[in-house]
Amino acid sequence: MIDEKCIFCKIIAGKIPSRKVHEDEHVFAFHDINPWAPIHFLIIPKLHIPSLAQLAPEHAALMGHMMTLAPKLAAQEGCNPYPEGGFRTVINSGTEGGQEVHHLHMHIMGGPRPWLRG
Ligand code: AMP
Ligand code: ZN
Repeated sequence: MIDEKCIFCKIIAGKIPSRKVHEDEHVFAFHDINPWAPIHFLIIPKLHIPSLAQLAPEHAALMGHMMTLAPKLAAQEGCNPYPEGGFRTVINSGTEGGQEVHHLHMHIMGGPRPWLRG
């Protein structure tokens, strides 16, 4: 399921260029265009789910896949090992939750501090 007007659906489809980090059957990951940290990428489901607020029980395996991918991709992209290194994981939901793009996405941020934000 895709949303023709959604910027992240267009990135998945290759209609908008991105710096890809990972792709498989269920998810796509790419660098954030406006990074807060030395390493900042997004993991998104290929399914157009607007936010965590729309999650249903059938999305549990997909969310588990995204969560278990996070540390693997963080290491792949150069985040230093836990516990001295590590990474931050953020999912914003809704306007008051700070969400700007309404296609569910997990921010992964890492690298040496200070960061621009966060
Ligand atoms: P959020 O505020 O949680 O909805 O985060 C949306 C994120 O998407 C922001 O950090 C943006 O910098 C990022 N973003 C928006 N457009 C693009 C794009 N074309 N390519 C990569 N990242 C983007
Ligand atoms: Zn979408």
